[in-house]
Amino acid sequence: MDANAAAAPHTPGSPWERMARGGGLLTSTGELSGTVFEEMSRLAARTGAVNLGQGFPDVDGPPEMLEAAAAALRGGGNQYSPVAGVPQLQEAVAEHQRRFYGIEPDPSSGVVVTVGASEGLAASLLAFLSPGDEVVTFEPHYDLYGAVVEFAGARLVTVPLEPPHFSPDLDRLAGAFGPRTRMVILNDPHNPTGTVFDDAALSRVAELAAVHDCVVVTDEVYEHLRFAGGHRPLAALPGAFERTLTVSSVGKTFSATGWRVGWVSGPAHLVGPVRATKAYLTHSAATPLQLGAAAALGLPDAFYDRLTGDFRRRRDVLVQELARAGAEPFEPQGTFFVVADVRALCERHGVGDATALAPVLAERAGVVGVPVPALASAAHRDLYTTWMRFSFGKRLDLLEEAGRRLAR
Ligand code: PMP
Ligand code: GLN
Repeated sequence: MDANAAAAPHTPGSPWERMARGGGLLTSTGELSGTVFEEMSRLAARTGAVNLGQGFPDVDGPPEMLEAAAAALRGGGNQYSPVAGVPQLQEAVAEHQRRFYGIEPDPSSGVVVTVGASEGLAASLLAFLSPGDEVVTFEPHYDLYGAVVEFAGARLVTVPLEPPHFSPDLDRLAGAFGPRTRMVILNDPHNPTGTVFDDAALSRVAELAAVHDCVVVTDEVYEHLRFAGGHRPLAALPGAFERTLTVSSVGKTFSATGWRVGWVSGPAHLVGPVRATKAYLTHSAATPLQLGAAAALGLPDAFYDRLTGDFRRRRDVLVQELARAGAEPFEPQGTFFVVADVRALCERHGVGDATALAPVLAERAGVVGVPVPALASAAHRDLYTTWMRFSFGKRLDLLEEAGRRLAR
């Protein structure tokens, strides 16, 4: 690991303390806070602000999915499922990977159903990390990675995606690998920046993982929220499947973040340890909801096309509204988030940075966003001081209302 990459210091204390630190739950004075997403949702509820902070859709998912789950609830599908999930969902995940990406995991030994992508990620990390191992990822990043890496006693080594273009620096990425690197986490499309990794970046990640004999964990929860061209999982690259665990969930694709149904797919030799770990975290995910998810994954292409079109329209509206309000948005290629340089809003409200702006915007303008520094390491936080993340997983009229409020 070179000086361009940031390694979190190895923190002493109980596993819980380390985890809280890695997930950013400890304030600078050592007090316990909630996750930044919880905190921002609480702020929105308290102030009555439009909540563009925590990313969750404000509409229900497809009726076919809801009906299948309701039928299972009423039809006696209310006991434990097998640890790896109901066979119908394992089949549906395998078929989804084949249909969209030409990847063919074995439905029974190569797919495990989890309690959201969150448990899929946690089980994947806990299954393969030992104390002292290093895990390479880009930052800013989803908070769970830091927390679970710390839980495992490992260390996160992060490479910044730098504003204003947030594209990966592949030389810096190479410099982040070292003799202790055991794993790479690639979140594509990327939360919070909306970056989509191109073929050159994917190939380089796969190549570095092979050279350093690492497991790759890809977080693809936004796989169907891509606005130009289809998603290409890293596992679809020649030779990459054998060392890659691919994680996704129903949350974003089927507007069901509260269902807590996700999955991990890959080669049996990697998925087996994930299943064994997951058995002792939650045993299994909610049976009737797994059956709903199986129905959803099998929906025709028209459903997926409409989803992408819908979110593209919302993205365009939010980008336009943010620009009109004086922010400088970076147009995302994927996810339902826009990051924007809110320097002008900070000046207008007389505060120094996005972290200070968040509560002020909630109170005065009635809009909540997530300050990007909350998702960055101490070493690179300064790069994102004036950047804020806004979610467009919301109705168009709410996005327009948020724009009007921000401009006032
Ligand atoms: N990874 C990323 C990048 C996310 O943004 C989220 C949450 N939205 C998750 C994982 C967790 O997904 P789930 O709700 O399926 O656990
Ligand atoms: N993934 C969502 C986000 O990034 C929030 C999930 C959570 O609250 N942990 O906003």
